[in-house]
Amino acid sequence: MALIVQKFGGSSVANADRVRNVASIITDTYKAGNEVVVVVSAQGDTTDELIDKAKEISAKPPKREMDMLLASGEQISIALVAMAIREMGYPAVSLLGWQAGVLTSSDYGSARIKSVNTTRIKAELAKGNIVIVAGFQGINKYDDVTTLGRGGSDTSAVALAAALHADKCQIFTDVDGVYTADPRKVKDAIKLDEITYDEMLELATLGAQVLNNRSVEMAKKYNVELEVLSSLTRQPGTMVKEVVNMEKMLVRGVTKDVNVARISITEVPDVPGIAFKIFSKLAAKNINVDIILQSVGREGTKDIAFTVSKDNADLAIEVLKTSIAEINPDNVKLDTGIAKVSVVGAGMETHPGAAAKMFEALYERNINIQMISTSEIKISVLIDAEYADEAVAAIHAKFLPPVE
Ligand code: ADP
Ligand code: ASP
Ligand code: MG
Repeated sequence: MALIVQKFGGSSVANADRVRNVASIITDTYKAGNEVVVVVSAQGDTTDELIDKAKEISAKPPKREMDMLLASGEQISIALVAMAIREMGYPAVSLLGWQAGVLTSSDYGSARIKSVNTTRIKAELAKGNIVIVAGFQGINKYDDVTTLGRGGSDTSAVALAAALHADKCQIFTDVDGVYTADPRKVKDAIKLDEITYDEMLELATLGAQVLNNRSVEMAKKYNVELEVLSSLTRQPGTMVKEVVNMEKMLVRGVTKDVNVARISITEVPDVPGIAFKIFSKLAAKNINVDIILQSVGREGTKDIAFTVSKDNADLAIEVLKTSIAEINPDNVKLDTGIAKVSVVGAGMETHPGAAAKMFEALYERNINIQMISTSEIKISVLIDAEYADEAVAAIHAKFLPPVE
């Protein structure tokens, strides 16, 4: 008997028919003699609708209450899935995050899973139940409900798979696997049979929403092999694992991230310690900084520009304008009309021409590059957001399908 964790995203449970469809996938797995633990997201656009409801009441809702509100979306779907399974004649029980023993840090809205106490889940499995757990949520040390950040149900599923030492963790979604680019945007995108944790982590971090990046981080840490597959077609999906059969692909994927903002500070004194001051103040506020560019000093001053996520932009600007004496507040500028476009692939480490090829694709479309950052397995550029989709398609066409 195997223990299988199956996660179903919002579109997979969007309406009654979809809920019934999911219930039949689950019961087929159960009928085959497996123990099944299921993680579900809120139906369809429920989470977005809940956020809108909060905005109608308050421009800046208290984070604790926001989590209380958002967690309700998943409560609806677990109950419906459990009912559908019961309706089909199989035993099922739904559990909220706290009932399933998901203990998190206290950061409302972006809590991290610290541990999972599996006692209750195991007891329900021992009774023969299919266990349906609310994704995206847990409880903190103050006994308050927390949520894990957008797309967090993937992380719930991986955490449960790790804690339960599951034999399989399947992430069901509305596409049939991980592609070399968003298949809804790039029609020539290629479905991958396999991808490594590291490549998937880069893709997820750089904007491919098909898996949440924390879920991939956790899967790698606990060596949980993931399968990403469609809840609508019963076909094998993409395996995410440590080592894959290299298909001689230089590039695994092309992604865009529009959740970025660029902050530039001009005329800061060209003296040692200024970068330290800026980035330590931002770090103290938990603001992650990504691509950094510093100009060559001239006449005793220099310019520094960097990117942060859009949600952190206002706070970052406030910190820079108010807490660093060397910075003239008038010289701090924010630009939110930008996008980060990236190519990812372990093969790039050994291919010096990859960057040139990417830049050529942009040049051919007359798309200007504002900033560049590279690592062993990725190259990212910052461009005008307006051209992001066009850039992804153009870069994708340069690299994929791979030529021998
Ligand atoms: P779920 O609700 O099941 O969690 P998401 O909407 O979070 O689903 O993620 C699935 C979506 O991710 C797909 O509909 C697809 O448009 C998008 N996506 C972006 N990049 C990729 C990629 N490289 N491969 C597959 N899907 C991608
Ligand atoms: N419902 C949450 C969201 O929309 C969590 C998830 O779907 O993974 O972000
Ligand atoms: Mg998702």
